[in-house]
Amino acid sequence: MTATRIMKLEDHKNAKIFRAACDCGSSDCDMHIELENDPDTWFLSLTIYKKLRWSSYWGNCNFFTEKWRRIKCSLKMLFTGYVEVEETFLMREHQIDDFVDALIEGKRQLEIERKNNDSN
Ligand SMILES: [Zn+2]
Repeated sequence: MTATRIMKLEDHKNAKIFRAACDCGSSDCDMHIELENDPDTWFLSLTIYKKLRWSSYWGNCNFFTEKWRRIKCSLKMLFTGYVEVEETFLMREHQIDDFVDALIEGKRQLEIERKNNDSN
């Protein structure tokens, strides 16, 4: 089976790790998806890792606007202790299907491992 922009990176007994590539083509947008059986509780968990960035250069702006953005962000961090960012991850229909297939297959394999552990 070929998958569109969905790669299995690691295939452990109790964890399946995938990389999903953003449809924009930038590897900076990739996200990592980890399906894991917790070895203590045997709960199945899904964790998604995605690098988020904030940049004062985004959009059209002049020198002063760009510096003002830096100051505003710095003040927000200074007085609130955090900054909020969001980032898009684009998938088209075929990639969504492959993403769902990868999760279903990974989940099925981990359920088998969990059942094998229960019977031991
Ligand atoms: Zn992207």
